[in-house]
Amino acid sequence: MSNTVFPAPAPVLAAIEGSDASFPINRIFCVGRNYLAHAAEMGVSVDKTKQEPFYFTKHPSSYVPSGATIAYPPQTANYHHEMELVVAIGKDGFEVPEEKANELVFGYAAGLDMTRRDLQLKARENGRPWDLGKDFEQSAVMTAIVPVEKTGIISNGKIELAVNGEPRQSSDLSLLIWSVPEIIAHLSKFYHLQAGDVIYTGTPEGVGAVVSGDKITGYIEGLASIELNIA
Ligand code: MN
Repeated sequence: MSNTVFPAPAPVLAAIEGSDASFPINRIFCVGRNYLAHAAEMGVSVDKTKQEPFYFTKHPSSYVPSGATIAYPPQTANYHHEMELVVAIGKDGFEVPEEKANELVFGYAAGLDMTRRDLQLKARENGRPWDLGKDFEQSAVMTAIVPVEKTGIISNGKIELAVNGEPRQSSDLSLLIWSVPEIIAHLSKFYHLQAGDVIYTGTPEGVGAVVSGDKITGYIEGLASIELNIA
């Protein structure tokens, strides 16, 4: 028994498809604006030749497994879904060259980067950090992680989301502005990536609001289906 003044938080554990072992989540990184059509709907343009990718983070305790029913979050009137490919890192790496980046991949999952869009946009307007809009309780939804041995390296495939059965987002992973190896190579210049880190790779166009009682369903071809219910 360790001597702590209150109980230490339990580790955050994600399921692994086809395994009894779980995946302890270390850090949650998220890529901003990684599909041109989504950047455009957010009123910004992205020029890969002149810009670098950027990131925000979510606390691991914001993780929610697919299939959960969660409360509508506080202090927002514009609560958005963002359907994303999630990469689970299984090996430590720093300044990883792009051609070796896939060696760090443990597996992939489907994820929802749930967003308080009104708070994010207000922060953006004022040049303030996005935390209130992005990093809040129950905002990082994820399916079981599918090991790369089962999927192979993923670089394309449909990514789709519906709300109450009505299609909202539909794109293809091949339209990522920065590919998974490019993201790993870039992010690992700034952080010593560690086994247990996960990376939300960005959402395609079609983001929109959900309200209490809505059911979100999403799908990534050849990988997983995700579900989230708003109480
Ligand atoms: Mn996102």
